Amino acid sequence: MEGTAAKPRLVDSHAHLDMAEFDADRADAVRRSLAAGVVAILCPADLTRAESLPAIAGLAAEFPSVLAAAGVHPHQAKDFSDDHLDELRGLAVRGAIRAVGEIGLDYHYDFSPRGIQLEALRRQLAFAAEAGLPVILHSRLSGADIIAAVDAEGAGRGGILHCFTEDWTTAMAMIDRGFHISFSGILTFPKAGSLREVAAKVPLDRLLVETDSPYLAPVPHRGSGRRNEPAFVVETARVLAGIRGLSLEDLAEATTRNFARLFPFEKTGGEC
Ligand SMILES: [Zn+2]
Ligand SMILES: [Zn+2]
Repeated sequence: MEGTAAKPRLVDSHAHLDMAEFDADRADAVRRSLAAGVVAILCPADLTRAESLPAIAGLAAEFPSVLAAAGVHPHQAKDFSDDHLDELRGLAVRGAIRAVGEIGLDYHYDFSPRGIQLEALRRQLAFAAEAGLPVILHSRLSGADIIAAVDAEGAGRGGILHCFTEDWTTAMAMIDRGFHISFSGILTFPKAGSLREVAAKVPLDRLLVETDSPYLAPVPHRGSGRRNEPAFVVETARVLAGIRGLSLEDLAEATTRNFARLFPFEKTGGEC
């Protein structure tokens, strides 16, 4: 396709394309991302919502650039049960998921009691280690407990601490445990100075970028209720490149290489 060859190859390491916000144009959102140079998108399905995994599995079947993951989000931890572990086991055996997630802790919203969040996290971490799958971790105001859970259950194949908003101590501890740190559009927000300071220090071989679509649209797409989508990951990559003193091309090359090390994916491009 004309013009795409010169575009930096980027990966969106976290997008909720299962959400209702994409019901009208799910496949078109992937096509737009391909046209924008996004060669892979990691999509976490939530097993407590019946429509989530089928939506992601459908996209993954249609587009080689879409990689499926599944788990129970900390917000839904109160609904977590053994059935979800059985479902994860079945998916892993069939090779239908590339990671367990997103899983984790959220002490900002506290939608599920913290003890229950911890239990769901630890059991899914243990499953991931047993299945040999990387994990996608969500942590909000809960860095110390995430680290403790990883230490208790083992880091397994490592993974991603996604939409990073914690402090440098947490970043360093997770890097030491083999994890990658993924930055979302928050990095482009005017008030995110302390996050940009952390982003400047993460080793280049552990950096990733993501959209967390449909949430957190980066500047300049940010606006009241404006939907985010994978094609916009380039704006976060551009800001991160600036912070690191790199060209967009070099930053894209590094983050895409990091992602491919975690999740080997086929070369895509030209399908649009
Ligand atoms: Zn999250
Ligand atoms: Zn998420």
